[in-house]
Amino acid sequence: MAGVDIRQVRKSFGRVDVIHGIDITVKDGEFVVLVGPSGCGKSTLLRMIAGLEGVSDGEIAIGGRVVNDLPPRSRDIAMVFQDYALYPHKTVAENIAFGLRMRGASKPDIEKLVGEAADILQIRHLLERKPGQLSGGQRQRVAMGRAIVRRPLVFLFDEPLSNLDAQLRAEMRIEIKKLHQRFGTTIVYVTHDQIEAMTLADRIAILKGGHLQQFDTPDACYARPSNRFVAGFIGSPP
Ligand code: ADP
Ligand code: MG
Repeated sequence: MAGVDIRQVRKSFGRVDVIHGIDITVKDGEFVVLVGPSGCGKSTLLRMIAGLEGVSDGEIAIGGRVVNDLPPRSRDIAMVFQDYALYPHKTVAENIAFGLRMRGASKPDIEKLVGEAADILQIRHLLERKPGQLSGGQRQRVAMGRAIVRRPLVFLFDEPLSNLDAQLRAEMRIEIKKLHQRFGTTIVYVTHDQIEAMTLADRIAILKGGHLQQFDTPDACYARPSNRFVAGFIGSPP
């Protein structure tokens, strides 16, 4: 059981409310995409799931366990950011292994897991390089490798492809979809790109100004948008 329950979650920064009582239940193994225009609160919601921001009100549970008071390292999640956040002086292999070292995994286990992740992401030939010697797409694969070696209950992605060009974005969408099919891990994925949302998601949660507009399958959002904003955002026929 590795779903994510977001129950009546609110967030304010000072006196400014940015998330207004959102309910989203992500099922075990489901791929849910949070989508909406810039500033609507996607990253804030994801960061609350990760434990990088506290919730102002409401409850978040991961795998049935309320995590409101747990630090990120105790939440069994792995997060992939847009800016990769790789260690520039470490090799690709060391970057991927970083979380495993912290956990005290043995050297043979680390080598095996890093090798597997590198094969899945087709970066085995890059393991001894430094991040500075890689393209943007390769760096993003390393960041994903670092997340998958940890075999978390839940993957959290925040606009992981937005620094890549259109061609690479399309390729990486396919890679991410394959990863999900292979591991069946629950994924919560943030993007402002409706095409990414429509092609990746089992269900899409559409946000506007910190309010949830619709939470449904891509087909249903397209065919039966709950309001004009959703219709316009998804590009439904009038
Ligand atoms: P998105 O990821 O959808 O672009 P964010 O979640 O980053 O949106 O931001 C939602 C709103 O919250 C924005 O208005 C943003 O300015 C505000 N916000 C985000 N983080 C902070 C913070 N640490 N302090 C104050 N305001 C913030
Ligand atoms: Mg954001």
